[in-house]
Amino acid sequence: MVKAAKNYVCERCKRETAFYQECAYCMKKMCRACEKSSATHSKTLRTAICKTCWGDLRKRTRYKSL
Ligand SMILES: [Zn+2]
Ligand SMILES: [Zn+2]
Repeated sequence: MVKAAKNYVCERCKRETAFYQECAYCMKKMCRACEKSSATHSKTLRTAICKTCWGDLRKRTRYKSL
């Protein structure tokens, strides 16, 4: 999660959010509610996937194979 100084608007649901996570597949800034899943692979690598990309089977397979 990225801490933001001001409120951002979620690019997926258009709601305001103080925190956002970037989807690793569509690069949209999404709020917590739009984040379907996230995984920490190492101390520096963390990926998140939004609900839209989760519905895309190819992207979901890529996410799971990380
Ligand atoms: Zn959202
Ligand atoms: Zn996405």
